[in-house]
Amino acid sequence: MKPEIRIGYGWDSHEFKSGIPLLIGGLTLPYDKGLGGHSDGDVLLHAITDALLGAIAGPDIGSLFPPSDPRWKGADSAVFLREALKRVAEAGYELVNLDSTLILAAPKIGPQADALREHVAELCGIPTDCVGIKAKTPEGMGTDNAAIAHVAVLLKTAVDS
Ligand SMILES: [Zn+2]
Repeated sequence: MKPEIRIGYGWDSHEFKSGIPLLIGGLTLPYDKGLGGHSDGDVLLHAITDALLGAIAGPDIGSLFPPSDPRWKGADSAVFLREALKRVAEAGYELVNLDSTLILAAPKIGPQADALREHVAELCGIPTDCVGIKAKTPEGMGTDNAAIAHVAVLLKTAVDS
């Protein structure tokens, strides 16, 4: 029997690089470095995408959108998130809420947290009070030149399925 609720978990990290914009949660944050690597480097949207895909036991973001594929170089990560949400809907589920923790030495996320929650909620089609954004500095982890995101999502059976 199909479970009524499902949990999903996602994790991602990207390295800071000079001279590129810093995109987190689909917003450009003021900082002198951005996140390099796959697509636009949006560590939070990637972790959300993987959490959604994981919740339906789907393929992960790297399998769907391989970093080796030139199509995804510099790509808007909202594209990945939309595909994950589409697969969630096709599986007969909808997103209830998500919670995230960002781990980065700088910049400070606190002043942007409300804007981030609003934007991520809009991208995911859920209320703002169903998006948790928490930020921590990487004490003792030696990851000061990286941004890390952990995300948990809860899905429930879609009303019309
Ligand atoms: Zn990523």
